[in-house]
Amino acid sequence: MARNLNNIRNIGIIAHIDAGKTTVTERMLFLSGAKHRVGKVDEGTTETDSDVEEQERGITIYSACVTFPWKDVIVNLLDTPGHVDFTAEVERCLRVLDGVVVVFSAREGVEAQSETVWRQADKYHVPRIVFINKMDREGADFEAVYREIERRLSGTPIAVQVPVGQGPQHVADPFRGVIDLIAWKMRTFSRESEGKEVIETDIPENLVDYATLWRESMLERLYNCSDELMELALQEEPIGPDLIRRELRRATLHRQVHPVLCGSALHGIGVQSVLDAAGWYLPSPADLPPVAGIDPTQTDMTIKRSADPAQPFSGLVFKVLPAKTGDLYWVRIYSGELKANSRAYNPRLDKKENIAQLWHIHAAKKEQQVPKAEAGDIVGVIGPRESITGDTLCDPKNPILLESIRFPETVIAMAIEPETSSERKKLADVLEMLKRQDPTFQAIENVDTGQTLISGMGELHLEVIKHRLLRDFSLNVKVHKPRVSYRETIAEAAEVTGECHRQHAGQALFAKVTIAVEPWEETGGGVVVINRCPPGSLDELYLTAALETLRARAEGGGMIGGFPLSRLRVTLLGGQTHEQHSSEMAFRIAADDAFTRGLKEGGPIVLEPVMRLEIATPDEFLGDIVGDLQQRRAIIVRTENREVMSVIEAHAPLRELFGYSSAIRSLSQGRASFTMEPLKYSAAPQEVAQGFGL
Ligand code: GDP
Repeated sequence: MARNLNNIRNIGIIAHIDAGKTTVTERMLFLSGAKHRVGKVDEGTTETDSDVEEQERGITIYSACVTFPWKDVIVNLLDTPGHVDFTAEVERCLRVLDGVVVVFSAREGVEAQSETVWRQADKYHVPRIVFINKMDREGADFEAVYREIERRLSGTPIAVQVPVGQGPQHVADPFRGVIDLIAWKMRTFSRESEGKEVIETDIPENLVDYATLWRESMLERLYNCSDELMELALQEEPIGPDLIRRELRRATLHRQVHPVLCGSALHGIGVQSVLDAAGWYLPSPADLPPVAGIDPTQTDMTIKRSADPAQPFSGLVFKVLPAKTGDLYWVRIYSGELKANSRAYNPRLDKKENIAQLWHIHAAKKEQQVPKAEAGDIVGVIGPRESITGDTLCDPKNPILLESIRFPETVIAMAIEPETSSERKKLADVLEMLKRQDPTFQAIENVDTGQTLISGMGELHLEVIKHRLLRDFSLNVKVHKPRVSYRETIAEAAEVTGECHRQHAGQALFAKVTIAVEPWEETGGGVVVINRCPPGSLDELYLTAALETLRARAEGGGMIGGFPLSRLRVTLLGGQTHEQHSSEMAFRIAADDAFTRGLKEGGPIVLEPVMRLEIATPDEFLGDIVGDLQQRRAIIVRTENREVMSVIEAHAPLRELFGYSSAIRSLSQGRASFTMEPLKYSAAPQEVAQGFGL
């Protein structure tokens, strides 16, 4: 098939765990002819859940990109994780994909996690279509889910397909097919062909009224977004399917509506329509506005690139995965083309990286090496060595720095140490690789103790990493208990002068360094050191020595527990020299003294990570769960009653949340579910700081 930008769909499926994302993916691959056998999640033979860890846990953590054809479109399907401990991965995927299929279970409806992800998709302006899955389950209720999308997600669902019957075979009116409200046909599916064979018939007499009501509701919603349709309706002119689809596409791209389809992925019902709908209603790379970046040679100049192969190459690394032949870098190409056996520039590193091979992971042929990839495409690249997730790769002659993907600070850490010294090197290599793959994960080796501190986004995140180290890489490591990653900052701004006035090896040393320190939220976590020393007032060598010392201190720990400093700005204001006795060394000592005084004057404080929790529980356990949360110093932000379930949103210090999964399991007899993600760092209460000797 000739490659045409308009025919590409870079999409992802997002869903609550267990809603059927993996099953839908498998069906899509099967229907596209890519696979002859349908993988079943329950048998652990699926295409996207390739990681051992995922199969064991039954959740999708590591995303990959699978390419397959569907009619006249080429689908690049990015696998998105379903667990909120991995929010950063979801966000990263949303940055590089163009449209999303949201899968809900017809029984469970809109669950807490889907809400979180829906909000993220809103934030990144990603158009969506909805697939209500599991229509064959006991208790499936299409309309209830449709209403929930309106009510809970403030979405504008627009049903383009409605179910014929609901629930399993043994009920009076079981789910057996769908009515396409646009084509005005009923479709049933043969179970023998696993859903490949579609039987299309006229809508039976007894279903016409039901279908008409839904079709009218569909058209009414669409009139609100389309003057053309409104006009035709007023003149009572017929409205053909092509026109409806065109206007529906426009409204979906503008995120005015969310087309809704339904089916049963397990029985192969309705997934064809999802693929058709992805082609009809979700954007191609050509529909997107040009991507913006800055010119790294002139940092305040914005440049834009559109999805045009003739423009200079630019792309974003959004995933790094280990492969047999070296790491596989997943790159979304925004402009120009990328050729194998070439070089691309990484502006962050100010280095050229090798582009040795380009790969598409085809579901059918497993993988296929390609000589080049163009704007709009997603490609796996082998060759780069130092780039990491979030980096831009671009044409060396026309550099651009795309907005990097933001990663939250790590909030929890765990010490690990190799059992034998021969394992030390292997552990270091594996950790380096994991860091490249997952930017929300960090590892720092402490040479003195032989321990390595690994840190991440939550207990589950570290647990997954621990399992990978022990099992996937068969490393013999001792693992300590996870603990909270505290930070230190100062309570208020201060201006101080540090001094060096002493004898050293028979020589007098003199220097004074004045700095301002202030709490500074804008850094997104770290410490900024800037120079406001009046030009020419200080010898260049002394100035450099002072700044170097301030920067080194900023990287080091604070005064209370030696925790990393954070949310702090240090400004060098000036210095004083002595004709004979000043030296670089004197300035280093004075700058160091100034830094210590600054922290003291500013009033050092400990910051602790606070998590955002969302808990869904049957009403009967609400009281116990809230009581337990209060014991954990949680602030209940909202509680909401939804039918027989209650949803609680709470903010609580991570310190109080260790082992929360087992606690909530026993409080609710295993029936409540929750999600947890880092929210912010805030001042730890006195008793926590006291624990560190304050
Ligand atoms: P994921 O966690 O969202 O990837 O969900 P899976 O695809 O792993 O599905 C979760 C469970 O639901 C599995 O046991 C599937 O077999 C089952 N399942 C998926 N789709 C359907 C469906 O349409 N009907 C029924 N009855 N079960 C389904």
